[in-house]
Amino acid sequence: METLAHALPLDAIRFNCRAIDVQISPNSFPIVHLDDGTTIYSKVVVGCDGVNSIVAESLGVRAPSFDSMGRIRVVTTYPGKGHDFGNKSSRVTSTQIVLGRIPINHNLVHWFITYSRHGVKSLVLERGELLRSEGAALAMWTNGWRALDALGVGETLRHKSIPIHTVTDVCFEEGRQRSIPIGRDEVRCLKRSDLMETLGESLPPETIRFNCKVVGVTISPFSHSAVHLENGTTISAKVVLGCDGVNSAVAKSLGLRNPCFDSFAAIRGFTSYSGKGHCIGNQIIRLKNDRMVVGRLPVNHNLVHWFISRAWVPQDCEISKEPKLIKEAALGAISKFPDEITEMVKSCDQSCLSLTQYRARSPWELLVRTLHKHSVTLAGDAMHAMGPYTGQGCAVGLEDSVVLGRCLGLAMRGCHEESEDQTRVRISMALERYVKERKMRVIRMASQTYLVGLLVKPSFSPLKLIVLVVLLLFFGGLQGGTQYDCGTLLSPKS
Ligand SMILES: Cc1cc2nc3c(=O)[nH]c(=O)nc-3n(C[C@H](O)[C@H](O)[C@H](O)COP(=O)(O)OP(=O)(O)OC[C@H]3O[C@@H](n4cnc5c(N)ncnc54)[C@H](O)[C@@H]3O)c2cc1C
Repeated sequence: METLAHALPLDAIRFNCRAIDVQISPNSFPIVHLDDGTTIYSKVVVGCDGVNSIVAESLGVRAPSFDSMGRIRVVTTYPGKGHDFGNKSSRVTSTQIVLGRIPINHNLVHWFITYSRHGVKSLVLERGELLRSEGAALAMWTNGWRALDALGVGETLRHKSIPIHTVTDVCFEEGRQRSIPIGRDEVRCLKRSDLMETLGESLPPETIRFNCKVVGVTISPFSHSAVHLENGTTISAKVVLGCDGVNSAVAKSLGLRNPCFDSFAAIRGFTSYSGKGHCIGNQIIRLKNDRMVVGRLPVNHNLVHWFISRAWVPQDCEISKEPKLIKEAALGAISKFPDEITEMVKSCDQSCLSLTQYRARSPWELLVRTLHKHSVTLAGDAMHAMGPYTGQGCAVGLEDSVVLGRCLGLAMRGCHEESEDQTRVRISMALERYVKERKMRVIRMASQTYLVGLLVKPSFSPLKLIVLVVLLLFFGGLQGGTQYDCGTLLSPKS
């Protein structure tokens, strides 16, 4: 790369320029849009921006599909006398892994490990006809991006959203405004459909089976678990992972109660600002009064995800079933907010609107209850539903998937050479290790979210002060925990 770069004229390369879109028109030169809001007019655009090419996307070319193989590459330096591998490259192959070595010079060696990313065959049972993307979009913080990187889809998703640099809180009735830079965190707002589709596409074909509603699981220490579907079918499985959300049938089979209802609910939607784009830039803007919060997050320069967080009322049960009623309820709730907010809701995409009451499993239940039994365990909201006050539920669920993949991958290695009983013991121990590794993390995040919820809801001021002190002293602030690193799928976290 350096040699090629030196061959170019001075200043030909401009760093920190992430292209997010190319506008192609037959009547004018192409326009390249960067994620910092800059636009560049160019006579010719050549996209050499890799597998997740934005230019290819602008030309209507689909992203390349994922292969079932992954590769880790490293370079090791042997200082002094150098390595003793001579001029020979070598390669060792087993059923699942290829380990290779290529000398670069007498001191440097390039190593690679090629491995199957789908070592454990799995089946995803989804009750819906399609992947579910209700809730429009979500904020993804550093810990979530680390998990997405470990799952191999981080780069693909980064191309679908712009970075957010600031959170601005506006108390418009009192005329107060405060902007806090996000600092070293990576925050982006992802469309849920982008997240679900990218994760779905990274799976081997036919892994997801639609229209399969799980109604319960029979758990046995002596045989495979039996997963019962609504249509009467039973599927026998070596491992059952319940990631079936807040009303998890698998959690019930493990003896857990349903998460409790909160007194608050959110209306969520999208508004598209084609042409000149929106004016909120790369910031999250939260407009508050004493009863509700209206939040706006940019997905890209044209699309804004917004939410209205307000008290749940009994009529919401009926309203939540009909997008037209949700829109009316949204407009009613924000009637005293500035005109630009009303305009935003008026011109939203009605088909993406949702109204959801918050649910949460208490940290206490997470502490005292068994979160796995033999070959059955939970992940995501099924295990640790938490309110949206810290915007962490999905990210923590993604962390679960990485830790579980790592624990199971280690346990299943070599299990084809042993009896079924031995495999069952291995799996049970792997799930125990997974739950042990996750327990304190999810209890911490659930507790933090609960406390932040107390702060943002109307309540007694001295209580708020105590909550704030607890958050600052024990949780690293309102948004603590976002630097958590769940590690990779392969090696245990160092
Ligand atoms: C208002 C609001 C805002 C939020 N904002 C954020 C945010 O900004 N950032 C963030 O990280 N998190 C956020 N969250 C939390 C996040 O939405 C959840 O934590 C996340 O969606 C949980 O993912 P999951 O896969 O565990 O469950 P779900 O998203 O509920 O998915 C469960 C899946 O299982 C399927 N399913 C359910 N039951 C069955 C069954 N019996 N059989 C078969 N399939 C079944 C469902 O159809 C669905 O596809 C927010 C939540 C709310 C309510």
